[in-house]
Amino acid sequence: MQLRYTYRLYPDGDQRAALARLFGCVRVVWNDALARQNPVKASNKLLGNPIKRVAEGPYQRVPKNADLSRELIAQAKQTPEREWLSQVSAVPLQQTLRDLDQAWKAHEDSKTGKRKGAKVGAPRFKSRRDQRQSARFTANARWKITRAGKLSLPKIGDVKVIWSRDLPSAPASVTVIRDAADRYFASFVVETGTGEVLPETTPEVGIDLGLSHFAVLSDGTKVANPRFLHRVERRLKKAQRALSRKAKGSANRAKARRRVARAHVRVADARKDFHHQLSTRFIRENQAVYVEDLCVKGLGRTKLAKSVHDAGWSAFVHMLQYKATRYGRYFAKVDRFLASSQTCSQCWAVDGPKPLQVRQWSCKACQTLHDRDVNAARIVLAAGRADRQNACGGTVRPAA
Ligand SMILES: [Zn+2]
Repeated sequence: MQLRYTYRLYPDGDQRAALARLFGCVRVVWNDALARQNPVKASNKLLGNPIKRVAEGPYQRVPKNADLSRELIAQAKQTPEREWLSQVSAVPLQQTLRDLDQAWKAHEDSKTGKRKGAKVGAPRFKSRRDQRQSARFTANARWKITRAGKLSLPKIGDVKVIWSRDLPSAPASVTVIRDAADRYFASFVVETGTGEVLPETTPEVGIDLGLSHFAVLSDGTKVANPRFLHRVERRLKKAQRALSRKAKGSANRAKARRRVARAHVRVADARKDFHHQLSTRFIRENQAVYVEDLCVKGLGRTKLAKSVHDAGWSAFVHMLQYKATRYGRYFAKVDRFLASSQTCSQCWAVDGPKPLQVRQWSCKACQTLHDRDVNAARIVLAAGRADRQNACGGTVRPAA
């Protein structure tokens, strides 16, 4: 499987300037290509309408990558407007065309339902104001890790890296990133085997991701939303308020904007650390981990709650998924509607819907007193087990 290993980079002044140039060129090629593709995609959308089809003529072909590469990179370098493209390595420029291709594919698969999960929007134009700037070097870009442990990038130089952990094998590609807080990172894609399979264990767990707690487990454990996260989030809100009071275009506003960006990064980092620790723990301690599919779960939630939590949840679920593969555990999303807050995990009687403020209820059929979230997690566990057994050809169902 493929894993990302990310390290902090410390480019010097010249290297930072060269990287800024590279990010700019990548952005321009992406935007030029998108500007060429968008009208075709848009008119094809019109053509999808049978009334328009007659008037507009045949379905138009989106330009191929090879053509885009020739036109927007090789030929563009010869023109005075795009001459500066030759100042940077061509590989990240070609890579950005492939990335754009992938972005379109993800969008189209998401539209047709071929890709599950959160909806993927159409690719958007990049801006120099974007929080994150990046460029990707693939194997043919002649980048390397030098003997002195620096990252040597074509037309950039040998950049200092902090190797916070060992790379398990030779990486296939490296993405250089500048984040909103002006920090630089190298993110390597590494192919790892499943050499790290953990010894087998017996517990299996169902997880309910919720609003009042971050996660509630089928064994009754409740994991609170971490307090440090509240703290960094409060700091972020304060910085945002300060920014809104600064006069437009002033130096103080620019300073305040950087402070907001740094606070954002801190929130994102803190949340990611928390997700990593928790997902590793769940995978280590359990042989099988089940969660409710968030798309199905999303049905009953408000827009606000969704926007705040979904991003975090799907990142967390993704971690569970790849860690399970890596450590030889079983992981599954239960992707059917469970009515997990209405069904009794003891006797499977359906007890009817309950408003969100009802945290405890007792089953009318078997009188068991349930904690709403723990019951939901138990339903997820039972449904996950049943799905797994059905998939294995068995006919075992939860006992009625
Ligand atoms: Zn019951």
